[in-house]
Amino acid sequence: MANYNDLANLIFPNITRTIDDLEKIYPERNLKEGAMVTRFAPSPTGFLHTGSLFTSLVSCRYAKQSGGVFYIRLEDTDTKREIAGSGESLIEQLKVFDVIPDEGYLSDSLEIGSYGPYKQSQRADIYNTVIKHLLSIGRAYPCFCSAEELANLRKEQEEKKEIPGYYGKYAKYRDFPVDAAIEKIKAGDPYIIRFKSMGDHNNKIKFHDEIKGDLELTENDQDIVILKSDGLPTYHFAHLVDDHFMRTTHVTRGEEWLSSLPIHLELFDTLGFKRPKYAHLPVIMKVENGNRRKLSKRKDAEAAVSFFLEQGYPKYGFIEYLLTIANSNYEAWRDQNLDKNFYDFNLQFDKMSLDGALFDLAKVANISKERMAYKKASDLKEEVKSWAKTYDVAFYNKIIANEEFFTNILNIEREKEKPRKDYSKYSDIYPIISFFYDDVYAEIDKKSLDFTIQINKTDVKDVDRKIICDVLTEYMDTFNIEVSEEDWFNNLKVLADKYKFTSDRKAYKANPADFNGQTGDVAGFLRVCICGRKNTPNIYYVQKILGKEKVFERINSVLKSFDLQK
Ligand code: GLU
Repeated sequence: MANYNDLANLIFPNITRTIDDLEKIYPERNLKEGAMVTRFAPSPTGFLHTGSLFTSLVSCRYAKQSGGVFYIRLEDTDTKREIAGSGESLIEQLKVFDVIPDEGYLSDSLEIGSYGPYKQSQRADIYNTVIKHLLSIGRAYPCFCSAEELANLRKEQEEKKEIPGYYGKYAKYRDFPVDAAIEKIKAGDPYIIRFKSMGDHNNKIKFHDEIKGDLELTENDQDIVILKSDGLPTYHFAHLVDDHFMRTTHVTRGEEWLSSLPIHLELFDTLGFKRPKYAHLPVIMKVENGNRRKLSKRKDAEAAVSFFLEQGYPKYGFIEYLLTIANSNYEAWRDQNLDKNFYDFNLQFDKMSLDGALFDLAKVANISKERMAYKKASDLKEEVKSWAKTYDVAFYNKIIANEEFFTNILNIEREKEKPRKDYSKYSDIYPIISFFYDDVYAEIDKKSLDFTIQINKTDVKDVDRKIICDVLTEYMDTFNIEVSEEDWFNNLKVLADKYKFTSDRKAYKANPADFNGQTGDVAGFLRVCICGRKNTPNIYYVQKILGKEKVFERINSVLKSFDLQK
């Protein structure tokens, strides 16, 4: 009579290593007390999800702040769902947000670290060694059920209102005689390999999650598939073998995995592997029509990290936003420590939110706006330049044509105690400042410019144009931008008053008909002439950057379009 060992040898004749050998090849890491080994384990099945960036950022931070190791493992055993190149692009996107592994998969041709390979598809030998062991102790077995048989089983269970799955009395090949199994394999019958569970779903197991605290879960009794017919392992089995031999101390992953945790725990215990600590992170949610739901790939642009990259949210704004989701005390800490790097903040498991974190795009924008405002112009220039190179080539060409000019533009009302807060993402910038560039300015239809004078006068008539013309002509005659902003504005007031654009608000309010308008109107004319619109950055600085010649050229080109002769 054949025994389990014979079965194991028949299935894996070439596996000669044992689990003990693997323990020696991948020894415990020599790290200081408290150092965490964490990982991010993406599947190369598409784009980087915002929730995955959150998980990976948190995992990375825990390792770094504890002086441990953060590694990336590519979970590519689902060949049907794999999208070529997506593994590498995930790594690229993670890098933008500082999620840089100490170890692991870096690209399809590069990995670092001595606990690899870090691509599951290259670890068949390791998985097979462990499966061979499970077969030899009778805790794994070949299952010859066809897809049809399994479908019928599901139907039968549904009808009987039984828990669905392959377990206990429903597990047809669980107690199949070894001799018969060997015969079938020799005859070439297709099979997969299942784990033989000893659990009972009437039992509860106690478990401590670093974030969720003490939990009671239903014991696993499913004989899950560990090796598929394509020779690759399933997630449940492979990740666990990897977490053990890569010596992960803390499994930080999305809470959607909590329900399958009893399977993982049973596997760890059966194999005699020490369980790692688990921290199941909140899933990122969105509110829609008053209901919470998961941020969805199909419905929400912000579910993809590429959305933030394309829009040009600065990485520091987005990272900080994610840290506010990660720990409830982050914002208070930030307010007290504005001069510190956000990585000086120590994440704590017990400060994580317990149920889904709500995604708030307005908050991402707000934090980004705050942080961007305090950037030095030359630093911001570099950030915008590298963003535009990929995402807005026309803008990029403008920047590199004259970097100093662009830096000066960015520096308007910046590098001071209370800087202006105009931009929350790089893509906000060009639409606001494009008028600085002559070719963009030249495209403006001067006749359509809006010179509406405040109050009453929505329809600017020739008589008004004449006044505008006169005041701007005198403005040019007396032009002086070499004085302080305050003096420049005082001079403007004097000029405006002369043309009955009063600086006396009260007088204007009492008798608007006595005036052409107020000082602000004259500043408005300047804006419209020089920038082609009414909302502009501080017009004093705009003129300083453009210089007298250009300012005159622009004002004159608009005045000419007034065509007063007709
Ligand atoms: N590959 C799994 C995923 O796609 C990883 C889960 C884990 O971190 O264990 O989410």
